[in-house]
Amino acid sequence: MSGKAVFFDRDDTLIHDSHYMYKKEQLNFIDGVFDVLKKIQDAGYQLFIFSNQSGIGRGYFTEAQMHEFHSHMEKGFQEHGISFTEIIYCPHDPTQTDCDCRKPEPKLLIEACEKYKLDPKQCFMVGDRITDAQAGERAGMTSITLNCDYKNNISKLEDIFEFIPLKD
Ligand SMILES: [Mg+2]
Ligand SMILES: [Zn+2]
Repeated sequence: MSGKAVFFDRDDTLIHDSHYMYKKEQLNFIDGVFDVLKKIQDAGYQLFIFSNQSGIGRGYFTEAQMHEFHSHMEKGFQEHGISFTEIIYCPHDPTQTDCDCRKPEPKLLIEACEKYKLDPKQCFMVGDRITDAQAGERAGMTSITLNCDYKNNISKLEDIFEFIPLKD
């Protein structure tokens, strides 16, 4: 357990949210996201996305459509030299299933730490909701919130370096 990583929420953290989106034309990156992620990656952190995608469970789009949307999004990041180790997600409709992986549940973060040999103490969870922060904290990570009334709050992504060290 030695690796370090930053886990990002997807919607309204990396890309602008539009209701249960899955279509390519709905993709709209947050200002400054490429610079920030490139700096973090260059500092030796692995990058992950951790997203609740209940639109799958609710039947609004299929898992395959989500993967297609993600390929399109990852291509946009790759054009800026940025790649994600994995996009982890909960596909469940919380009103219909006994899901144990939807944020604020930390399960998927804990599993990723085991799979990629990450040290949670050197990992961060970044998101715009309290549930993002809670998942990170429950996995033993430092959570950072974007425009959210919670601890370690920042108002724009560029301010993330108040909390994420770029040097050991
Ligand atoms: Mg969000
Ligand atoms: Zn789930």
